[in-house]
Amino acid sequence: MIYLDNAATTKLHPFVLEEMLPFMNGNYGNPSSLYELATISKNAIEHARQIIANAIEAKPEEIYFTGGGSEADNWAIKAVCDANKHKGNHIITTKIEHHAVLHTCEYMEKHGYEVTYLDVGEQGIVDIKALKKAIRPTTVLISIMFANNEIGTIQPIEQISQVAREHGIYFHTDGVQAFGQIPISVKKQGFDLLSVSAHKFHGPKGVGFLYVRSKVKMQAFIHGGHQERGLRAGTQNVAGIVGMGKAAQIAMDTMKGRVKKERELRDYLIGRVYKEIPYVRLNGHPRFRLPGNANFSFQFIEGEAIVLMLDMEGICVSSGSACTAGLHSPSHVLMALGMPEEIAYGSLRVTLSGESTKEEVDILMIKLKQIVSQLRKKSSAYEMYLGR
Ligand SMILES: *Cc1c(COP(=O)(O)O)cnc(C)c1O
Repeated sequence: MIYLDNAATTKLHPFVLEEMLPFMNGNYGNPSSLYELATISKNAIEHARQIIANAIEAKPEEIYFTGGGSEADNWAIKAVCDANKHKGNHIITTKIEHHAVLHTCEYMEKHGYEVTYLDVGEQGIVDIKALKKAIRPTTVLISIMFANNEIGTIQPIEQISQVAREHGIYFHTDGVQAFGQIPISVKKQGFDLLSVSAHKFHGPKGVGFLYVRSKVKMQAFIHGGHQERGLRAGTQNVAGIVGMGKAAQIAMDTMKGRVKKERELRDYLIGRVYKEIPYVRLNGHPRFRLPGNANFSFQFIEGEAIVLMLDMEGICVSSGSACTAGLHSPSHVLMALGMPEEIAYGSLRVTLSGESTKEEVDILMIKLKQIVSQLRKKSSAYEMYLGR
């Protein structure tokens, strides 16, 4: 099997599994209890919190463990809005956010909030002037993702953060795709809130964290015990948190070399696709994109068909309509780039990891070329284009 869908999830690192196992076996103490067995769990959680805080230049008490990236996004938006009702009821976000942000914003709209969904340029970049124009006296929160999960676009995050700060507005960023791929410093980049998910950087599923700058007023997301400073109650997912800490450590230690390798392999793939397959375009920004992300549109055919045929060859990739596959509508991200629907349908996302190899990309290329030409032979749109 060749796994090239690392934006969807990543393989658990073997060292991460090794670190987690004792906490799924002998070290089962509840971190909130008082005896030695419990202290082992508590110390392991706090060790992970310290690693994560170091990774983003935050303080450990600014890290709140969650049940993943979606929960962190939900919490960030709801809590900032609830705690700042006196200031206003306006949120600014973009049309290309992950559904965890978009659908939370839609929920807020049903509860008295007004939301501006900013357009992006055709390469997926937010326009700073448009952001400034959207700000109202009632704006309480700007939520704009660091890097996009479909097209890999990296936003001018420091400029956005500066605009937010100048206007005294809280700034949340969904950093799920950025963590471990782009250096993050909440100090330098000026985030008030940052969402991260472990399973996107070779950690376990169902665990993540929300960074909250200490001055930000927050409301509890889960009411109950005193865990996570009383804001996210419930006995912690000890093994998950320990695994996330280890994965974060590995991600930081390996980032430089790994990212360079991913970027070179990505550019090799993009170069070959452009050279060897006609009627194709790269979606997103040529330079401001995640090191492992390549997103193409193949004209005249459907991305989903390519995905299914590559699957039969043992290759895992994703199409631009994966999240909405059941609904059979093209991705909201690709539509926000202003591309015609039929081009959006032909999209294919290949996302590499540090373990991806040139041999894997070479095999992908052989199969992809065959599949694309096979599908085009059956495509009436292609026939029409050729004038037959
Ligand atoms: C995967 C992803 C999420 C959701 O994270 P989960 O841990 O799967 O809930 C949110 N935002 C982005 C950008 C993602 O890629």
